[in-house]
Amino acid sequence: MNKIGIYIHIPFCKSKCPYCDFYSLNSDCNLQKIYVEQVKKEIKSYQNVSADTIYIGGGTPSTVDGKEIADVINTAKKQFSFNDGEITVEVNPSSCTKDFLENIICSGVNRISIGVQSINDNERKTLGRKSDANEILNAIRLIRSYSIDNISLDVMLGIPNQTKDSLKNTLDFCIESGVKHISAYILKIEENTFFFRNQQKYNFPDEDATAQLYEFCCQYLNENGFLQYEISNFSLPGFESKHNLKYWNCEEYLGFGPSAHSFFNKKRFYHINDINSYLENPNVTVDDGDGGDFEEYSMLRLRLSKGLVEEEVLRDFNFKIPEEMKKRAEKFVENNLVVTDEKGIRLTSKGFLVSNYIISNII
Ligand code: SF4
Repeated sequence: MNKIGIYIHIPFCKSKCPYCDFYSLNSDCNLQKIYVEQVKKEIKSYQNVSADTIYIGGGTPSTVDGKEIADVINTAKKQFSFNDGEITVEVNPSSCTKDFLENIICSGVNRISIGVQSINDNERKTLGRKSDANEILNAIRLIRSYSIDNISLDVMLGIPNQTKDSLKNTLDFCIESGVKHISAYILKIEENTFFFRNQQKYNFPDEDATAQLYEFCCQYLNENGFLQYEISNFSLPGFESKHNLKYWNCEEYLGFGPSAHSFFNKKRFYHINDINSYLENPNVTVDDGDGGDFEEYSMLRLRLSKGLVEEEVLRDFNFKIPEEMKKRAEKFVENNLVVTDEKGIRLTSKGFLVSNYIISNII
């Protein structure tokens, strides 16, 4: 049986960022302890499943006691016969303390993802971020002092008043800090966020300006050795996120905690965004239908730079990429949005900018 990925959601944050629509709440240590026990209970409800990636996301896992996080990781490792693989924990620079790191590292964590978003004080302030560039640099140094070299930084594109120069400043910081992986997400104004309710008060870059920022980001990171392997993800060779690749490769994973999604035994299901229901019974999930058919596989694979690969389609589905699909993809070749050749079909960086439109047309 293939090894799956494990995602564990830690739904706690010190405060709510103005752009964030992830499920998170403010809490005390007591609730966090009770929550961790429920997550462990849910983990223990699975038998005979093996995993080779564990991802602790949120929320802000580093707002929880490192011992609690280590306890969850150790429980997952034992239950899912985890011997060797990738264990990632998301942290915020301001809560990435020595004590937290010492505890989680004992449980085998070997990858850390830091939410940087921007290095420029004015942009950080707009995003509700309290730490500054120095604090981020200190967090990176501290993580390295525990021999963790596999560090990922999140960067945001489309921040109010962001310019090519201010983005370059952020990217230079990331590159010079020596990290191995950078995720660059375009800010989406989601409903139920502070930004959504106060849009008119901010000078958000328009679609064209954001597209230019994205194109610059892809090109600049590429020039500096960070290869784009997915719409929003760049890494030095060999440092792609193994856990996230499972999502885009249409492989199976289990998600624990409110709002976490799963794809397991060809079924998709999820937990609702409600910690109280989760605390009542962590084993209740909502059915989200069957998963893993060719259409879904193609949709996910086309997010990757390598795209839909002819020999992998043959291996996974026992047929070749349908000719009609290739024909639909060829319509986008002239504008340099898609490449089609004997290897398969893939989007270019320019194509990634309008990926939803292109992918839905190709499929
Ligand atoms: S720290 Fe992360 S999860 Fe928490 S509110 Fe901010 S963006 Fe959302």
